Amino acid sequence: MALIVQKYGGTSVGDAERIQRVARRIADSLATGQRVIVVVSAIGGETNRLEALGLQMAARPEAREMDVLLAAGEQVSSALLAMALTTLGHRARSYLAHQIPMLTNAQHQRARIEKIETASLMECLADGVTPVVAGFQGISAAGRITTLGRGGSDTTAVAVAAAVAADECQICTDVDGVYTADPRIVRNARRMAQVTFEEMLELASLGSKVLHPRSVEFAGKYKVPLRVLSTFEAGEGTLITMENESMEEPIVSGVTYARNEAKITLSGVSDVPGVAAKIVGPVAGAEIEVDMIVQNTAADGLTDFTFTVGRKDYEAALELLKPVRTKLGARALSGDNKIAKVSVVGVGMRSHAGVAARLFNCLATENINIQMISTSEIKISVVVDERYLELAVRTLHSAFGLGQTAAGS
Ligand code: ASP
Ligand code: MG
Repeated sequence: MALIVQKYGGTSVGDAERIQRVARRIADSLATGQRVIVVVSAIGGETNRLEALGLQMAARPEAREMDVLLAAGEQVSSALLAMALTTLGHRARSYLAHQIPMLTNAQHQRARIEKIETASLMECLADGVTPVVAGFQGISAAGRITTLGRGGSDTTAVAVAAAVAADECQICTDVDGVYTADPRIVRNARRMAQVTFEEMLELASLGSKVLHPRSVEFAGKYKVPLRVLSTFEAGEGTLITMENESMEEPIVSGVTYARNEAKITLSGVSDVPGVAAKIVGPVAGAEIEVDMIVQNTAADGLTDFTFTVGRKDYEAALELLKPVRTKLGARALSGDNKIAKVSVVGVGMRSHAGVAARLFNCLATENINIQMISTSEIKISVVVDERYLELAVRTLHSAFGLGQTAAGS
């Protein structure tokens, strides 16, 4: 009998009626003879609501208490879904992290899973009872509730699937799979039947919101077969595979973007050892994530140093760099928080030259200025003015032949 982990996100369990529909969907899987472990997110919007409440109590609430607060969302949805399943005549039992137990480190608000005991879950299944696991939460060695970071219940699902050696981990969500580009921007974007882990990891990290990047990393590491599919529509969804099984690797598999980016430049800094560390150090020290970094070749011993951060961190990063600018005697500190990052991803790039040139050409034809470039073996990212984001995504999607043809093939 196949063992499947099914994860339902916040929108899928958005209200009482949807929770009942999810329960019917699980019942359908059980009726085919599959064994199912369910992992559930909080009701959509609930985690935000709880977080806002916490922020009314303190400007910077203790991470430990935030975890107790936020984990409550998944406690509610797991109980409700277990009840709904029971009403349909299927025995079900909710599981909070400490009841499994699902052990994490003590990094509150961004804990990492260390160990999942499988005995209680397996016994539950053996008794013919369907476990409904509260996603997102864990328990530290000290017995405190932790959370895995926002969007973390995808990771819960993959980790549970790895621990019980499930046949498949299904991420059931409000889209019917992973697309070649955001269908809201590109009308003829195509659902991919398959995508490799490597590509999915890039897509998730570069802005595609379908899967939490950490869950993809986890699935790749533990070789968990992962599928993204719609909760309420029938379909095969997208299978994330170890290797591309099709004969011909597409050079580019998808185009993705991140809208809320900002860049900061320190110009005219001395080109001497230690400068990069002095610039990026304080920013990283404030837990601000630095993404692309570009340093120009020095002219007359002076260089320009540019990096990007999330837009929400823009002001804070600029503030941090004011004293750094003085200390380094840099000519100027400037920034732009109206930029976006567009990326093309594909494992086929490894074996094909000229992808970058094609991409640059294509943006040039549309008169889109490229502000920064970063590449890896399987991706090319460019920073452009946010106004050209949609145009850039559409242009690249069609230039690399990713769209559906009119006939839909
Ligand atoms: N409920 C949590 C959040 O909103 C975890 C999740 O949905 O994956 O971030
Ligand atoms: Mg989510």
